[in-house]
Amino acid sequence: MDNIKNNIASAWSQVHGCLEKKLPDHAIHAWFEPIFPVGFKNNIFHLEVPNQFFLEWIESHYKEDIIKAIKEVYGEQFKYKLLVTKEKTQKNEDRNSGASPVETKPKRFNNLNLKYTFENFIVGSNNEFAKTASESVSNNPGEQNFNPLIIYGGVGLGKTHLMHAIGNQALKKNNNLNIVNITSEQFTLDFVNSLRKNKTIEFAQNYRSADILLIDDIQFFRGKEQTQEQFFHTFNVLHQNGKQIVLTADKFPGEMKGLQSRLLSRFQSGLSVDVQPPNFEVRVAILLEKAEQNGLTLDYSTIEFIARHIKTNVRELEGTIIRLLAKSSLLNIEINNQLVTEVVKERVGGKIGNEVSIENIVKKVSEISQVKENDIVGKSRKMEIAEARQVCMYLCRDIMGTSLNNIGMFFGGRDHTTVMHALKTVNEKKDNDVRVEKMITSIRKELGFSFL
Ligand code: ADP
Ligand code: MG
Repeated sequence: MDNIKNNIASAWSQVHGCLEKKLPDHAIHAWFEPIFPVGFKNNIFHLEVPNQFFLEWIESHYKEDIIKAIKEVYGEQFKYKLLVTKEKTQKNEDRNSGASPVETKPKRFNNLNLKYTFENFIVGSNNEFAKTASESVSNNPGEQNFNPLIIYGGVGLGKTHLMHAIGNQALKKNNNLNIVNITSEQFTLDFVNSLRKNKTIEFAQNYRSADILLIDDIQFFRGKEQTQEQFFHTFNVLHQNGKQIVLTADKFPGEMKGLQSRLLSRFQSGLSVDVQPPNFEVRVAILLEKAEQNGLTLDYSTIEFIARHIKTNVRELEGTIIRLLAKSSLLNIEINNQLVTEVVKERVGGKIGNEVSIENIVKKVSEISQVKENDIVGKSRKMEIAEARQVCMYLCRDIMGTSLNNIGMFFGGRDHTTVMHALKTVNEKKDNDVRVEKMITSIRKELGFSFL
């Protein structure tokens, strides 16, 4: 117990570590990293949190998790108590008295995700302007033409990443900035809580003291009239004082429904920049970066395969890499082609190779082998025609996993044993006959399956 008391920070970090294993990253980041252990008395950890809102949120969402983690690390008799951080001036005095000393390190309650930086943001034509504008804002916050800066676009395209990067970069330049970073949902909850507790003045002060206010996903203000009202006033105070406001949204502000027009017109005084889905090259670059970040080496053809199939957004690309890692370590197997195909299939809802059809394969084989499509699907047993047909059967099975019966039916109503024989023949030829091997490789490539 004395151990805990003497080094409360490291004692708490054990519990934190235990929580980290159980809760998602974003939860740890948003709610647990800002917790500051300040003392230990009567088997109770005293933990400081930035504000009342934080305290209530943690108590209502994570109480059981914390109790369990403490129990797991130290035993049942240990408990915790949350305290709201006092004013800065008092804080150091408090910390130096009473409860055991704590390693003091500057602690900022801004929830910024340190992983989101400009350095690791990959730029392509889809997001170049948004990144440049964001950098500019982080270097000169409050500059009139870029205030507010609104980053808008679809999900998983890097809006939150850029917003946090602005905060992180601005802090690097000036460590004293008060950066308030919050999602519009947290803002709403915070406001509702302040109403309940008659603390709207504190609420207003809290937000209006920001040097940079970052609010994520303002589309969730839709239809919440009173919150919008509060936000409008906060916005005006900050704007008038030359403080920077950065907002993200799912749509161009002009197209947002359910937001008051006076707010929308305020937004027009600044700059709106969009992020678009990445094109193929950017997807490849992102995959390479994310693989490296996760200590994963993938060969180029695998990366290309993923980039060709996962097109919607960056979060999906990242998710694919994480899933690959998770599966390979859970199943204790190397990452191989089969695993990659499986994971990609899962993520695109089993629609892999959807753009490939039997007809498509026949067409390609016909082009390369110079055998007419009609002959390929016909009855002729002429050698070059039979070979082209067998190659088609092989590719249907290999790329799309079509059943033997269906393949047989398509190619002139043959039964499945004929198809099996065809697959075996092509398999052998592929290894011994360069011409057949080349034909298969080049068709796979054209269909985007070069790596299989
Ligand atoms: P959004 O807020 O637009 O929904 P996020 O910012 O949360 O998207 O991005 C989703 C994930 O993709 C994050 O992990 C982020 O780091 C990553 N990401 C998005 N765009 C890029 C990019 N251009 N370069 C590197 N990572 C990116
Ligand atoms: Mg986001």
